[in-house]
Amino acid sequence: MADTKDRNPVHQCNKPYSISGDLGAVPPEGEQNPYVNALAQFDKTVEHLNLKSGVVDTLRYPKRELSVTFPVELANGDIRIFRGYRVHHSTVLGPTKGGIRYSPNVTLDEIRALAMLMSWKCALMNLPYGGAKGGVVVDPKALSRRELERLTRRYATEISLMLGPESDIPAPDMGTDSQVMAWIMDTYSMHKGYSVPAVTTGKPVEIGGSLGRTEATGRGVVNTIEQALKRMGMVPQRVSVAVQGFGNVGAVAASCCRELGMKVLAVSDSTGGILKEDGLDLDSLKIHKKESGQVSGFPGAENITNDELLTLKCDVLVVAAMENQITSRNADKIRATIIAEGANGPTTPEADEILNDRKVMTIPDILCNAGGVTVSYLEWVQDLQSFYWPLEQINLHLKNLITAAFNNVMACGESHRVPNRVAAQMLAIQRISDAIMIRGIYP
Ligand code: GLU
Repeated sequence: MADTKDRNPVHQCNKPYSISGDLGAVPPEGEQNPYVNALAQFDKTVEHLNLKSGVVDTLRYPKRELSVTFPVELANGDIRIFRGYRVHHSTVLGPTKGGIRYSPNVTLDEIRALAMLMSWKCALMNLPYGGAKGGVVVDPKALSRRELERLTRRYATEISLMLGPESDIPAPDMGTDSQVMAWIMDTYSMHKGYSVPAVTTGKPVEIGGSLGRTEATGRGVVNTIEQALKRMGMVPQRVSVAVQGFGNVGAVAASCCRELGMKVLAVSDSTGGILKEDGLDLDSLKIHKKESGQVSGFPGAENITNDELLTLKCDVLVVAAMENQITSRNADKIRATIIAEGANGPTTPEADEILNDRKVMTIPDILCNAGGVTVSYLEWVQDLQSFYWPLEQINLHLKNLITAAFNNVMACGESHRVPNRVAAQMLAIQRISDAIMIRGIYP
């Protein structure tokens, strides 16, 4: 087990109390603050819609936010305090849906922004959900498996008043996986006294997970790339791809691009990237990554930095790592024709302006990476009816749903002459606004 002492936030009694700085990172300022960016994007979108101002104000703020601090007993007997959050942005269209992330950089502003994006994503995909997000300030790699399980079960208990198959359904996000979802599902079920598989999605198949859920985000990313190529008259066999992020989303997206005949010439992870002009052998690369823990040093490929990967000459750039990767600093240097946003919020509003001026085609995050929540929805439906579908059916539903959303976004963008991100958010926000007006304001 790694030494957790230095890597995880410790409560320090001699420090003055501050909401975000004490047990976690202080939210970044300006262009680096995800909530500031999400609001800037929202304001830009609603300019194109004719919404009641009270509805606009309602959607600017999360409906409810829970901040929890809780103790976890570590393997050496020490007790450490952790901070976690769960935010529900909107409950208008149905129960809230959204991932839980474990990262030392989690802040409440980040979780608020991601919850808002989940509302737009679910509405755009026509899923009967509102948006939510959760997070714990922790480096999961610094904990043993048993410590991670204890942290997860305690966090799930702390936020359990927010959870339920009819109120709020978490899923994996950065730093969490199907095992974490299994522990949350089990904890919730133990408190209820019976099994409630539909309380989380992205679970292992053995306990009610859906076939194809693990690959769904990466697969959906490539479904949207395929549609974008079609529109631009490009044939996959002549397309080169660079992928930032070689985790669950990036690695699957790279393989799916390859299956369609595209050449994956570069990939990167948090430690750096690699480039091979005539295409990487992804099967050997996966073995190399498993053995060495990183993509760098892959035999026959040149080592490059993450910054270099982003500005490589290629047809499609898949950004599947994290927020704020394409900023005002590097947007004018991007040389890809299409940017596919596998991550949430990878492009800042400042960078967006630059890319739009340069006519780079962006497949925005709430469309591009919506495959994950779409198959989460299919998993939830299967759990609720206790009837499970074959993989072919899941992948076909995913492809049909994401292609329909893609076409809607393109049509909206063309008819209103707005960039794809604005078009996607216009469709989403209009749907939620319509639902608010039809339901009426209580009481
Ligand atoms: N965390 C994923 C996302 O950002 C999946 C959310 C879900 O399946 O609920 O879309």
